[in-house]
Amino acid sequence: MKTLTVLGSTGSIGTNTLDVVRRGAGQYAIFALAAGRNVGVLASQILEFRPRVAVLAEAAGVKILTEKLEANGLPRSEFPDLLWGNSALVRIATAPEADTVISAIVGVAGLEATYEAIRCGKRVGLANKEVLVSGGRLVMEAVAAHNALLVPVDSEHNGAHQCLRAGNRMEVSRLILTASGGPFRNTPKESLARVTPEQALNHPTWRMGNRITIDSATMMNKGFEVIEACWLFGFVPSQVDVVIHPQSSVHAMIEYSDGSVLAQISATDMRMPIQYALTYPERSGAPVPKIDWTQSRHWEFLPPEPDKFPLLQLAYQCQEAGGSATCILNAADEIAVESFLARQISFPSIYEVVSETLGRMPQRTPDTIGEILEIDRESRMKARELVRSRAGAVTA
Ligand code: NDP
Repeated sequence: MKTLTVLGSTGSIGTNTLDVVRRGAGQYAIFALAAGRNVGVLASQILEFRPRVAVLAEAAGVKILTEKLEANGLPRSEFPDLLWGNSALVRIATAPEADTVISAIVGVAGLEATYEAIRCGKRVGLANKEVLVSGGRLVMEAVAAHNALLVPVDSEHNGAHQCLRAGNRMEVSRLILTASGGPFRNTPKESLARVTPEQALNHPTWRMGNRITIDSATMMNKGFEVIEACWLFGFVPSQVDVVIHPQSSVHAMIEYSDGSVLAQISATDMRMPIQYALTYPERSGAPVPKIDWTQSRHWEFLPPEPDKFPLLQLAYQCQEAGGSATCILNAADEIAVESFLARQISFPSIYEVVSETLGRMPQRTPDTIGEILEIDRESRMKARELVRSRAGAVTA
């Protein structure tokens, strides 16, 4: 049996993880659950999965959670320890009672706890791509130094992980990541200034949290995935290609030196990669639909459009630059996405805010997680200033 800490249990990946646990017929136990502010969903998860510890982002949430659990008739003697804040996240990610951590908090808020879980040599199922975008070098050094098992949950990297098992890493020539193209694949560039948050949140193939959905619409998400792939599998950016595949059935392809290409194909259901991260190197039946090969189907593969979606190219440049560039990229994008969702900036201004923040922040080489978090804070401040200076520029 595996005992899990789930960081980000109330989100899209978190709830899918708990569904895998629910259907796992006793293969998994939950040690701890961590959420941000969604007290209602966390309360029902506590009643169902009975973790020993539950964590919220802020102290105020703990009081409401206590009231909800009491109102549901849970005796005080059966309450989990109720904690809050970053040090509590680190505590549940490093606790000896949990052998496996699912890292599914969105953004840099999940960085330190994930890093510390790695330093404890745990199995970490990594969904939170911002961990590698912000702190890739330090995180991968910790994986090697502490013999941790880092298994990607992100479907493209999970697909690549599977394809790489088929051959010798020395014989791999490149990785091809697929991208759905998002909701604006067929929208003319000139119309992007008028798109609304509601249109951008309407992803054609995946149901995910707000940040990653907007990042998919701008292609920033694919840029983050290029960076994530470089760190996970030891590629340089020029060895990672992106191809638009609107059907999202082929998740990744690995090309070997003889030109042979292996692809990983499965339903668009995150429970498959989540379960793989829990069971690797073994496989077991997953609660996801199988592809019906008796049905005729049409799969397209198209080149990306760098002029229309410039954040993808910016991600390549940041990974090539190294140092703090990708950390700044992530922090600025988080603020720009929030501001777009709050209707403070237009969709094309997401790129402008991110690239201007990069231009105004000094380049550094962070040597600790603390330094990364400091660069992240400064970049957010700078991005917020730039958003304020654009106030009123929204046309949608
Ligand atoms: P969601 O927005 O759905 O969920 C985010 C989770 O993080 C929620 O549980 C949220 O809690 C929690 N959270 C946010 N801030 C804090 C904090 N300060 N402390 C503790 N918990 C916090 O995002 P997704 O599940 O879609 O994505 C999670 C990560 O996985 C992202 O990095 C994303 O890029 C990545 N990913 C997601 C995929 C998907 O299919 N969804 C696919 C591949 C990668 P609450 O809701 O309670 O506030």
